[in-house]
Amino acid sequence: MTENRANGTAPVTAPQHSVEGFVKEFLRELHFGQGVTLARASDNDQYLALARTVREYLMARWLETLRRQFDAQAKSVAYLSAEYLLGRQLDNALIATDLTEIVEEGLASLGIDLATLREQEVEPGLGNGGLGRLAACFVDSLATMSVPCIGYGIRYEYGIFRQTFVDGWQVEQPDTWLSLGAPWEFPHPEHSVPVHFGGHTETYDDGGVERTRWVPAWDVLGVPYNYMVPGYQNGRVNTLRLWSARATKAFDLQIFNSGEYVDAVRAQTFAENISKVLYPEDSTPQGKELRLQQQYFFVACSIRDFVENVLPEDFDLHDLPERIIFQLNDTHPVIAVPELMRILVDEKKWDWDEAWAVTQKCFAYTCHTLLPEALEVWPVELLGRLLPRHLEIIYRINDDFLAEVAQRFPGDELRLRRMSIIAEHPERSVRMAYLATVAGAKVNGVAELHSQLLRDKVLPDFSEYWPDKFTNVTNGVTPRRFVRLANPALSELITDAVGPGWVTDLERLREMEPLADDAEFRERFRAVKAHNKDRLNALLQRRDGITLPADAMLDVMVKRLHEYKRQTLKVLHIVSQYERIVSGELDPTSIPRRVFAFGAKAAPGYKMAKQIIGLINHVGAVVNTDPRVQGALTVVFPPNYNVTLAETLIPAADLSEQISLAGKEASGTGNMKFALNGALTIGTDDGANVEIRQLVGDDHFFLFGLLEPQVEQVVAAGYEPSRYYEENRTLRRAIDLIASGAFANGDRKVFEPIVSNLLHEDRFLVLADFQSYVEAQERVDAAYLDTEGWTRSAILNVARSGFFSSDRSMWDYIDRIWHAQPVVAR
Ligand SMILES: *Cc1c(COP(=O)(O)O)cnc(C)c1O
Repeated sequence: MTENRANGTAPVTAPQHSVEGFVKEFLRELHFGQGVTLARASDNDQYLALARTVREYLMARWLETLRRQFDAQAKSVAYLSAEYLLGRQLDNALIATDLTEIVEEGLASLGIDLATLREQEVEPGLGNGGLGRLAACFVDSLATMSVPCIGYGIRYEYGIFRQTFVDGWQVEQPDTWLSLGAPWEFPHPEHSVPVHFGGHTETYDDGGVERTRWVPAWDVLGVPYNYMVPGYQNGRVNTLRLWSARATKAFDLQIFNSGEYVDAVRAQTFAENISKVLYPEDSTPQGKELRLQQQYFFVACSIRDFVENVLPEDFDLHDLPERIIFQLNDTHPVIAVPELMRILVDEKKWDWDEAWAVTQKCFAYTCHTLLPEALEVWPVELLGRLLPRHLEIIYRINDDFLAEVAQRFPGDELRLRRMSIIAEHPERSVRMAYLATVAGAKVNGVAELHSQLLRDKVLPDFSEYWPDKFTNVTNGVTPRRFVRLANPALSELITDAVGPGWVTDLERLREMEPLADDAEFRERFRAVKAHNKDRLNALLQRRDGITLPADAMLDVMVKRLHEYKRQTLKVLHIVSQYERIVSGELDPTSIPRRVFAFGAKAAPGYKMAKQIIGLINHVGAVVNTDPRVQGALTVVFPPNYNVTLAETLIPAADLSEQISLAGKEASGTGNMKFALNGALTIGTDDGANVEIRQLVGDDHFFLFGLLEPQVEQVVAAGYEPSRYYEENRTLRRAIDLIASGAFANGDRKVFEPIVSNLLHEDRFLVLADFQSYVEAQERVDAAYLDTEGWTRSAILNVARSGFFSSDRSMWDYIDRIWHAQPVVAR
């Protein structure tokens, strides 16, 4: 399948698109693929045979897509991302091929339930959260739009950890997603690529020209594993190519020859560590040598692969910008910039300026953060030790760049220091975001507000220097996975209303708007929600033994656990409602029953985040069992939030919690998934919430909290959280209840770190936004009691959220950054 150059191969035909054709193929896979008879096949055998059968249907399209793209000599998008949070593959392949009904019927004829086999699949969790999920949505959209794209990344042997709770505290378990078979991947060891590390550089005379060569100390092999990325019912299948590290033969032999068997095996493990495990950090850079190795490993493989395997043999690399755009998903792949320069200058022996001119046109950079502490830097000492030639190239890029800046701003020493790719303090290091900005043809933020702040606050000198380089592309999510697949009942309702075209043209949802005023339609819409809540309830019972109360509003906050996302604000609201009920101030029968559902993983080393998880679970244990509450409040926290859980949780939600401090969440994509599934948002004016509110309308969105410029002012005036504590009685009583040990069997020490952080530090202004949040929640309660009005708002949220399709994001990238085109059938 990496044989991209192979054309003129014999046509490959897919199995018959019929129940009989499917059953025949399925049994063949079971017998000859799994080596079992139907009578003896386990659920996992059946799942693997099913996956391989569905795969057969996609294979011919995959080969055909590659042939067409090769023949068209079209420009490709190479999406470089250290993470892909794909979710399960089976269902997506079924809807893409329109095989769901055939498979259901075929399996039923053999006495097998498709739903049971579906549950066998362990999702490949090769990402942490939003950033990795975005990459997965983007490759889905490009395949559906017939745009040539290769997603490049790392095939982590262990993806994001599996979260369990022990006494309410997070305990991480390894994610062994490969252990029961990996039917969706195609390894191609014959296309392995060597990647070098360490050593030194030396100069030599090349016919009167002084050149540099890198003499590395060790190397590993990158083995490509290909995954199909099927377009939605369009006959296209793009490729996701993930790299796995293997020890090289040369590496082994050298040590074997010295007779050191044990050392040789250890060396192999050392090399293979590179793709062993995904770093479970989210939006904080973890300065680990292995992580830099991972970054260089996958981009070196990917560039080599594109140049040597995807492009035609005699391709003139001067034309590279016509054939490729490398999109950098955050700074993780930025080392690709000096790598391409090294190939052009050292290996192809181009002049520096000639190479730089081409390189600058081949990259574009997406920034994903606003938190200064999340901007990646690599110590010069480490980078120089691991990649000595790349460090030299970075220095040269920086020298040339600063010389240019000095020419434009003579004598402005401070500016030079601010804009230097090399930071001097606290240690000499490379600012990867600056390198990406200097090298990239374009730099984009991921929501309007974020792009604005990126220009004004994060990279102001650069946006002044290159105003046209900066642009915005608001994130999106794929309607295939997050509506069509995750919410079949709503999908049917939408299709009844507007026809089937919405799945690939999400603005068509607009046509539903008038139906918000149709009482019968609202009734059907509520039936869909009720059905999805039943489905969630069944899942949580099976999975965690959790039973949800009937007829309750489902209020959901699912996302990575981070202080800036402010799960603690949600907890304070719950605790304050609880406190008001037990103190007799609030009649529990006067408010709608609510289920507060959380889902969140904390980075294993992030102590405060793990504390907060503990607090949520302990609050739940008390609130859920206190008879005085009379079932008005229920807290549930199913462990291991992942794409699979999101697919059942989000369609059931009534209320979406998007409550980050304004100016901290770059975009959010969970917010979009909720709106598209008919939840109303309670949210701050942050990230893409701003655009959601503008589109759905203020009357159908619960806005609260400080605006971004106000946050600035509050901080500048010297924020004192304790003042809010003293002045706000409700807030004080909630915090006091936590501090009293009421949620820790009377032990005041357990949650003391959270309490004292809130009272004395509160970096993310939880206390400042508390009152406004509580008032917005009162508006939510009142609105929910008006069933028809609520349903109307929910329908309008769906109808007006078509903008948040990742297809639209892709058209924006194409238009503003990539200038690539779909390859249409000829
Ligand atoms: C969409 C998604 C996210 C991102 O959620 P945000 O609320 O935007 O942070 C994280 N994890 C999973 C599993 C998702 O599906």
